[in-house]
Amino acid sequence: MTESLEFDVVVIGAGIVGLAIANELCEKFNNVLVLDKESDFGQHVSSRHSGVIHSGIYYKPNSLKAKLCVKGNELIYEIAKKNDIDYLNCGKLVVGHNEADLQKLNNLRDNAAENGVQNVELLSYKEASKIQPGIKCQNALWVPSTGIIDSHGLMNCLEKQIIKKAGIVYYNSEVFSIDVFDNIYIISVKNQDIKIKSPVVVNSAGLWCDNISTMVGIKKYKIHYCKGDYYQSNTYKNLKCLIYPLPEKIGLGIHTVLQLDGSVSFGPNAYYVNKIGYEIDNSNLDSFYSSINKYLDIEKDDLYVDYTGIRPKSYGFNEESNDFIIKNEVDSGFPNFINLVGIESPGLTSCLAIGKYVKGLLI
Ligand SMILES: Cc1cc2nc3c(=O)[nH]c(=O)nc-3n(C[C@H](O)[C@H](O)[C@H](O)COP(=O)(O)OP(=O)(O)OC[C@H]3O[C@@H](n4cnc5c(N)ncnc54)[C@H](O)[C@@H]3O)c2cc1C
Repeated sequence: MTESLEFDVVVIGAGIVGLAIANELCEKFNNVLVLDKESDFGQHVSSRHSGVIHSGIYYKPNSLKAKLCVKGNELIYEIAKKNDIDYLNCGKLVVGHNEADLQKLNNLRDNAAENGVQNVELLSYKEASKIQPGIKCQNALWVPSTGIIDSHGLMNCLEKQIIKKAGIVYYNSEVFSIDVFDNIYIISVKNQDIKIKSPVVVNSAGLWCDNISTMVGIKKYKIHYCKGDYYQSNTYKNLKCLIYPLPEKIGLGIHTVLQLDGSVSFGPNAYYVNKIGYEIDNSNLDSFYSSINKYLDIEKDDLYVDYTGIRPKSYGFNEESNDFIIKNEVDSGFPNFINLVGIESPGLTSCLAIGKYVKGLLI
């Protein structure tokens, strides 16, 4: 016989965003369930990124990305300090190489100020190289609130907090259909003879969020997959701060990626693909070599492929970039069905602020 289980809230997806939302909702509801199709948390976007705590300098003023990133930056340092999660508030330099770049750096500084990012400074080459010896640039923007974090440690902490507050996390539980009856969502899980019922469902399924939304009957979203490869190198160890080029049309450009053990990689580039897959080859070696050499000396034969991630974008290659979509679908006839669509960067930085935002959307 099919077993029926009732919860106050079901969150679909145990990535960093789903876990942060569930942890926040455990403060308001007694009975919170997280479902993930994989055997552990963070097996997709949340373990294939740069691990950077962004400051919020890039995003359009008043957008969700700007507001949630700036708030999330503060909250993430706070949770890391309180729970002994490894992090480093190393700051970052965004480099420019000529007068046209200088104008762009000035614009970025103005945008940062509008978004409320504190203490951003425009530096000369001499000032920048005092912070990071060996850097190549004409000018640079110094962004002190940027850092790096052990995102696995953060997910571990969030999962533990959920369980401590009597929430439940079920792995190996792939949602494959969602019915609605009297504003109650009835969720079926692959290969399990159970029906999970809840008046609140949060779709935090990352690369699959459009499929989950379609299951309930909301077909207006489409996720575009934008891959980003990383290359490792042994040339550098313990760089003082992150180094970024000026942002590109898609993505922030190939930047340094600092690990907490001091090792240094580079990435990610950005290219759209048609399907989800984490295979990687060295066909982008030349473009990595020339991009990195603009801001740091590197030899081509010291660059080797590392890993790749996929951005879940809500817009395609030739479309205008979009803000995060975080929506209570009450207007589509699905009250308290919360869709999160296009949670690309700065989703890691914003996760705790997203949790609070979702709590505020519930009616
Ligand atoms: C290359 C790259 C670099 C990035 N760098 C940064 C950075 O430096 N700083 C930053 O702030 N952000 C960064 N980001 C963004 C950040 O990593 C993401 O915004 C964040 O990890 C998204 O988390 P998520 O929980 O939404 O998605 P995910 O971690 O993908 O979680 C979604 C979960 O849903 C589950 N799921 C899917 N379908 C189902 C189903 N049918 N049933 C049950 N479970 C299901 C999946 O198994 C998965 O665990 C980067 C992203 C990429 C790709």
